[in-house]
Amino acid sequence: MDILKTITDKLHGKVTEANFEGANIVLYTDNENFFKEGESQIKEIVNEIKKRIELRADQKILPTQEKTEKDIREIIPPDAEITNIIFDFHRSIVVIEAKKPGLVIGKQGSILEEIKNKTLWTPQIQRSPAIKSQITENIRAVLYENNNYRRKFLNSIGKKIYEEWNPEKCDTWIRIAILGSGRQVGRSALLLQTPASNVLLDCGIDVASQGNDRFPYFNVSEFNINNINAIIISHAHLDHSGILPYLYKMGYKGPVYMTQPTRDISALLALDFIGVAYKQAVAPLFSSTDIKEMVKHSICLNYNEVTDVTPDVRLTFYNSGHCLGGAMIHLNIGNGAHNLLYCGDYKYAKSRLLDPAITSFPRVESVITESTYGAKTDILPPRKEAEDKLLDIVNKTIKNGGKVLIPELGLGRSQETMLILEDAMRLGQLEKVPIYIDGMIWDINAIHTAYPDFLSAKVRSDIFQDRNPFVSDIFSRVGSPQERKKVTEGGPCVVLATSGMLQGGASVEYLKEFAESKKNAIVFVCYQGTGSLGRQVQEGVKQTRMIVDGREEIVEINLEVHTIDGLTAHSGRNEILAFFNNMRPKPKRILINHGEISKCLDLASALYKLERVETNVPRTLEISRLR
Ligand SMILES: [Zn+2]
Ligand SMILES: [Zn+2]
Repeated sequence: MDILKTITDKLHGKVTEANFEGANIVLYTDNENFFKEGESQIKEIVNEIKKRIELRADQKILPTQEKTEKDIREIIPPDAEITNIIFDFHRSIVVIEAKKPGLVIGKQGSILEEIKNKTLWTPQIQRSPAIKSQITENIRAVLYENNNYRRKFLNSIGKKIYEEWNPEKCDTWIRIAILGSGRQVGRSALLLQTPASNVLLDCGIDVASQGNDRFPYFNVSEFNINNINAIIISHAHLDHSGILPYLYKMGYKGPVYMTQPTRDISALLALDFIGVAYKQAVAPLFSSTDIKEMVKHSICLNYNEVTDVTPDVRLTFYNSGHCLGGAMIHLNIGNGAHNLLYCGDYKYAKSRLLDPAITSFPRVESVITESTYGAKTDILPPRKEAEDKLLDIVNKTIKNGGKVLIPELGLGRSQETMLILEDAMRLGQLEKVPIYIDGMIWDINAIHTAYPDFLSAKVRSDIFQDRNPFVSDIFSRVGSPQERKKVTEGGPCVVLATSGMLQGGASVEYLKEFAESKKNAIVFVCYQGTGSLGRQVQEGVKQTRMIVDGREEIVEINLEVHTIDGLTAHSGRNEILAFFNNMRPKPKRILINHGEISKCLDLASALYKLERVETNVPRTLEISRLR
């Protein structure tokens, strides 16, 4: 059925052009009155076809960009602090970047409405980050440069979705192949297949491994890159997104769906991944050109925004409470024939940075849950206790004249740790010593402040009221070897550095310097993968081989080693059980992945007993039929 023709026919010649932008439909009109007053007619059609339709003015009737910019600056109050105005001529859109987006929008959108009526351009608002974020700027630049390409690309996506679109409930089959993350943490990749769709959920690598088992099984017969209709990414951690640019290198030209923060952070982590490869003198898996391709083909959604990604798969992201922009992926398949919730990584508890994972959904038949901390013994201590323990270790070490190293994932826990330390120092619960931030944590802080809508209410309001904790002067940024030398030669301090599992990066450099002195301490606050240096140190290894000044040397590990489980961004055993206990509606089947074998199996039997539903722990390469 030709949905665009059906719509244009209904509007009797008022529409000059009709296009898709992904699953959305965009109509252009050269009739000024219809542009301003056609809303009710459009609404009628939306109700009928149940698809989103946007009406824009045809290029022919748009005033010049100079005149429009002048009008916009007159309409918007100066307090909004406009930082940039960018025109997307091909789509009749004007993007307004401002420090206070709320003042650009106005009460119930009144100012936006005024701009639209006065200039006929369609305004879109973007927040200018409080900390300059090079990556967010670069990504926005790539998107603007490729406006015309994106217009054609988004139109082709829509055409494919609607070509075979069938509003009837289908009698269909659905299966899911685990290409990675079955009974292990790392290389998450799941292939969802129906008669009409091949959709890839996540495509990560196992950062704790160096061999070929780092990658998901993309060489199996089910996986043909030319047949993939869409990729959906739950969040930016490398074990979920690390191999995405590589798929573009291998010729994938389709869309990747994610939230905006996930897009920016995964691009940043991918660039860092190239840098780390060069440092280890190995050929990087992909280049920055491939990352650019990924950005060009990204389609970003907010939480709770429903969109069709193929003729029979409808996607909604829900807050996962795990990291900035992290999402649980809800898929309505075959027009309601089956609903699958793929949880990705989630935290069902409130943290300082984020609100807890969502538990209520329109419908759910099957769930795929992680089990990183799924075993009986993985009971996390209360947050308060964990935070007190961290402050206690830091205070004691500093009193003894030592230094504290906290290896961090760039994304998620480092910001949480910063919030804890900032709060404690402000309240006088922590000795006043320098806190050094090394590695890419700083860039990720900047992305956090660019998307405050994804943060917890408290942090959001702090940022809005110019009390941005990430720019507090208790934090010093460290980056160069000279700056690092100063830190290691200086007095007591706290260092937050990537990588989180001591697999390359700044944290390893600090470990070399801190390891031999008993006065120093290392505190693990995030998950340490099997085989990683972090896991070895955590388990008490007394010496390790490391490259020091270009030579391999044996480094004695004498510093104090602490692990604080309660600060993890994953749900502990009780949180996972509470998540399923509170989940509405109740699923009929639970699949378990993303956990060491014993934890997956232990969780499966507990969930079976508690929920009385079928539970499975598929191995990697196993295929489960969902319907
Ligand atoms: Zn994660
Ligand atoms: Zn993960």
